[in-house]
Amino acid sequence: MDGQAKDGAARLWFDPTEVFIGGHWLAAATTLPLEDPSTGAEIGAIARGGAAEIDAAVTAAQAALDGPWGKMTAAERGRLLARIGQLVLERADDLAMLEAADVGKPLKQAKADALALARYMEFYAGAADKLMGETIPYLDGYTVYTLREPHGVTGHIVPWNYPMQIIGRSVGAALAAGNACVLKPAEEACLTALAFARLAEQAGLPAGALNVVPGLGDEAGAALTAHPGVRHLSFTGSVAVGQLVQAAAARHVVPVTLELGGKSPQVVFADADLDKALPFLVNAGIQNAGQTCSAASRILVERSRYAEVVERMAARYAALKVGPALADHDLGPLISARQKEIVDGFLSLAGDLTVAARGTVVADAPAGGHYVAPTLLADVRPGHRLAQEEIFGPAQVVIPFAEEDEAVAIANGTGYGLVAGCWTENAGRALRMAKRLRAGQVFLNNYGAGGGVELPFGGVGLSGHGREKGFEALYGFTVLKTVAAHHG
Ligand code: NAD
Repeated sequence: MDGQAKDGAARLWFDPTEVFIGGHWLAAATTLPLEDPSTGAEIGAIARGGAAEIDAAVTAAQAALDGPWGKMTAAERGRLLARIGQLVLERADDLAMLEAADVGKPLKQAKADALALARYMEFYAGAADKLMGETIPYLDGYTVYTLREPHGVTGHIVPWNYPMQIIGRSVGAALAAGNACVLKPAEEACLTALAFARLAEQAGLPAGALNVVPGLGDEAGAALTAHPGVRHLSFTGSVAVGQLVQAAAARHVVPVTLELGGKSPQVVFADADLDKALPFLVNAGIQNAGQTCSAASRILVERSRYAEVVERMAARYAALKVGPALADHDLGPLISARQKEIVDGFLSLAGDLTVAARGTVVADAPAGGHYVAPTLLADVRPGHRLAQEEIFGPAQVVIPFAEEDEAVAIANGTGYGLVAGCWTENAGRALRMAKRLRAGQVFLNNYGAGGGVELPFGGVGLSGHGREKGFEALYGFTVLKTVAAHHG
């Protein structure tokens, strides 16, 4: 890429063919092609780390824990994270350009991700020295207390859809708690991971506290999950790979946090304020071209207002435009030809379903880009594959229901349980639904709450286990030790 970002507009401040290990930038033995999803063109190369680089990274992380990083106070760690957050803020436009070009994300959405990364650093900067144990009243002659200690070396495997946000919530919390991290970004999108590492280095993060090894999942990723020196694994990605990660972790009895997929519903009761709900109903489905784990891919609507909701959502869909990331339309391309093939395959299952509306791919979108027009499907049976399986593309199904019990049965009727939304002006029903919906997060009369870094996030069922974000993540990145002193 000749030192330029893909679009040529932002200078790179790192070399994407290098890995970052123990504070050193090292050329990887081999590389992988770097593709621009908006054009399909190969525009450079990225490092292809493997088992050797992962081993070196784990060794460097362990050395950091035995060195200055391990000796830092929580307040000093917090100050460092704050400095990293400040640098991320200063480079937010450049980071957004990189992400837009690398992932195909419309520029505004990419900028929001960069700001979220900064917010994660700020939040965990402030939280680092507020992570405390407890004293426990016990038998006469004892003093008992708990300590929250870091696991040690933590492994972080990140997907391509929201690299900056996921790095922020996972690595940010792990560093705040005093761990040393080995980060394996997705092979489709590792530029902002390397950019972030360079900013962390500039902020003064001690060598080895953060190591970044781009590479393929079944090479670098598998090596990280199999490494005996890794004491905790944080994985965000597909259910199938999550199962492999959990199985690999079991060999060394290592705890895992799994943030997997979803088929999240928004339930719309007849008394909902539709003017308020409508933007959320559509945006939560098409944001990032539907490649969002918490996408609201199922819209459940009480029968008496079903036709109205479908019609109003369809009007919004008809206005949606899809095009190159830097042109900043409503949607960008999908990440890859493979992802487009998967999504097209799902859409071919629509058969005799009602296509209520489709958006438009702009006429000047490059032919090689991975564009899919967003599709709204109505009158879908809850058991249909399109209403059960994660499409991970810009498609939503709208399903009618008769009353609350049926709404709950449909909403809870997939293997997933990541996020759910409920729209009603009846406060009692809203609170009841919050209890009845099977999900890690429930939103009442909103969806996503602006993404708040403060809000614990994670799933149940196939959506995974463990929590990231908020203060809760810090507990996951620590081990609780109980100390019982007998002093008579
Ligand atoms: P993926 O599981 O294919 O890849 C995710 C990461 O795992 C990548 O870094 C990849 O290189 C790595 N990987 C692949 N094979 C591996 C192996 N054998 N061992 C170790 N690592 C391996 O998923 P994807 O297609 O990149 O992402 C899409 C999926 O991620 C969707 O299902 C989506 O819902 C989910 N996701 C979940 C969340 C969440 O927070 N719950 C967030 C984003 C994405």
